[in-house]
Amino acid sequence: MTAPLRLVHLYPREMNIYGDHGNVLTLLRRLEWHGYRAEVTAVHRGDRLPPDADLLIGGGGQDSGQGLVESDLLRLGPDLTAMAADGTPMLMVCGLYQLFGHTFHTSSGRVLHGVGVLDIQTVGSPERLIGNVVAVSEEFGQVIGYENHSGRTTLGTGAAPLARVAAGMGNNGSDRTEGARYNNVIGTYLHGSLLPRNPTIADHLIATALQRRFGSANLRALDESSTGEARRVALTRPR
Ligand code: GLN
Repeated sequence: MTAPLRLVHLYPREMNIYGDHGNVLTLLRRLEWHGYRAEVTAVHRGDRLPPDADLLIGGGGQDSGQGLVESDLLRLGPDLTAMAADGTPMLMVCGLYQLFGHTFHTSSGRVLHGVGVLDIQTVGSPERLIGNVVAVSEEFGQVIGYENHSGRTTLGTGAAPLARVAAGMGNNGSDRTEGARYNNVIGTYLHGSLLPRNPTIADHLIATALQRRFGSANLRALDESSTGEARRVALTRPR
């Protein structure tokens, strides 16, 4: 049996809404089904990042929750930047997606500074973008999720969109992009949770982490019948 893969969950107390914790559960369960062991380390404010982190996961939160973690995240910024440049896979949803960018100007006039791992910036608006989303990615296929955010995010030249919006608003409601990618970092507005409904993204993160740790990733063909049913039902939901 190989050593466990180390999953790191950033700020699960403050940054965990709309079921984002389900992303961690999905990664754990799929790793088990693929025949690998994994352990989760929660990183709370004041904690250090474990040196053997293989995959980082972060969720969404209210502007107030983002304000609570802002300075602590900036403390981790140099390490996170180095890990991202080195190819560590990461999934950051909504609130932490925004704080992995440069800045978030909230709709109440506060400026939250991010770590700048992703070349994105966000400006809040009093009108929230809420509802079910379907987006299309060349690599991952149809990406399905749920969005609820005040922030409008624009991508700089250093970030590529995760997907193009087919239904819903995505990054900003105007350029039809959804999410951002840099190296093996994925940022997205999609909750749901995202990964139970989007196994291509889950297995991409898993395969990247395994490849980096062990030099190979032997993923099994899994029974996706309940995933398929969840996706089918999600696609029939109104906006
Ligand atoms: N507070 C941020 C916004 O409203 C993020 C919201 C979220 O994480 N769902 O844009």
